[in-house]
Amino acid sequence: MSTTSIQLPFLQGNGFSRATRRIAVAVRKKQDLAVMLVYVNDIERLCASIGHVQTNDVLDDFHARLCAIARGDDAIERIGERKFAVLLSGLRNRGHVSLAAQKIKRVASETVSEQVGRAGLNLTIGVAQSPSQGDDPHELMRLAEIASLDARRKSASICFYESQAAEQLFMDWGLEARLGNAIEAGDLELHYQPKIAVSTNEVIGAEALMRWHEPEIGPISPEVFITLAESTGQIVDLTHFAVQQACRQLSEWLDFLPGLNIAVNITPSIIQTFEIIDVLQSATGIWGVPPAALTMEVTENALMADPETSHEVLTGIRELGCRVSIDDFGTGYSSLEYLKKIPADELKIDRTFVMNMLSDPGDRKIVEHSIRIAESFGLSVVAEGVESAAMLNELRKFGCQYAQGYVICRPVSASDFEEFCRKSSLALKASETTS
Ligand code: C2E
Ligand code: MG
Ligand code: MG
Repeated sequence: MSTTSIQLPFLQGNGFSRATRRIAVAVRKKQDLAVMLVYVNDIERLCASIGHVQTNDVLDDFHARLCAIARGDDAIERIGERKFAVLLSGLRNRGHVSLAAQKIKRVASETVSEQVGRAGLNLTIGVAQSPSQGDDPHELMRLAEIASLDARRKSASICFYESQAAEQLFMDWGLEARLGNAIEAGDLELHYQPKIAVSTNEVIGAEALMRWHEPEIGPISPEVFITLAESTGQIVDLTHFAVQQACRQLSEWLDFLPGLNIAVNITPSIIQTFEIIDVLQSATGIWGVPPAALTMEVTENALMADPETSHEVLTGIRELGCRVSIDDFGTGYSSLEYLKKIPADELKIDRTFVMNMLSDPGDRKIVEHSIRIAESFGLSVVAEGVESAAMLNELRKFGCQYAQGYVICRPVSASDFEEFCRKSSLALKASETTS
């Protein structure tokens, strides 16, 4: 059941028309006006614990408390089952509006119910301002609505209307639908970037990187669509697709590339639920692939979002037999204390340090010390973003085990990856016979 289909027995009345009339009056009087849409989050939880009728009473109580603190020209209208329009005049700048919003949030946190005591209402507030953003009442309400959606998307408690944010929101909606179709139709494709052993140049595996060529827009960067998928929840289907595809490829490739390992990237939301463990178990089972042939790459920051759950999920992934790699190492905030306990097999040094290691002594030190840290914790280490032979030589001197980067090979289609492996194994054999 969608959240909007919950039928609360409230009287919607004509709050919306009263709100727009009030805006029209302020505009006629040339008053500075903040149009706030106050959205009460999470009322499902309240409905579940005290029932719908009592929840409606709590919202009425909140409304009454807001009215009690309103000043002369202010107006507060309930315009939806969980939505209030708060119209505040005479607030000249955003600082004043923010203070007013703080007050509203305090009122929400103080709202009580007989059944549960403090109801602890949690709010999202979107703000549009007049005259700076127009004088049409319906348009101002629409802009405030956009600001509140922007706030929810950013998990912020308050957002002011910004035209750029609105454009981004509309673009995301267009992309979200297109991405949904692409996932459903299997139109996304994995490309593979080889990882080599620095001492022998042998291909030991590949990182699977998602590619999306949208028919009308063209190629869309993974930085864009992965971030979007993470914010819309589509990342779950996208990750399952990536795991299935990687296992399917492994089942073909392991016949002639024994020992090959494929790494799949996973995001913060994936690492916060145990579902990924079942997905890995099922996909490796379906394709008859040894779990050890799969690595899950997870960034340091993703782990820090909820260290305890991430720790348990990573432990589960490793118990299944899959490997875990800490991606973009050096850019996050994990402490050595956390690193000591981390259930991982590999560290991947972030490409920004590797790419600059020859020109920036600081980055060079970071690369060298990351290799030492990995060694001392018993983790294997990969340098990503290796763009020149000189970098590869330097990494060899530091004792770095594995490398990945444009100088070796860019991310390529599955067939090009096969071709690359064939050529590089021939090259390896040739060098063995001449040495
Ligand atoms: P990442 O996991 O750190 O992947 C490495 C990125 O570095 C890739 O960018 C790769 O193309 C790029 N790269 C590799 N070698 C070099 C080099 O020598 N120089 C430079 N400048 N860049 C290099 P890409 O493919 O654009 O992916 C960006 C990010 O998007 C990835 O960063 C990863 O976080 C995410 N991503 C890609 N595919 C997936 C996916 O299937 N699932 C998830 N959850 N995330 C993905
Ligand atoms: Mg990665
Ligand atoms: Mg990386």
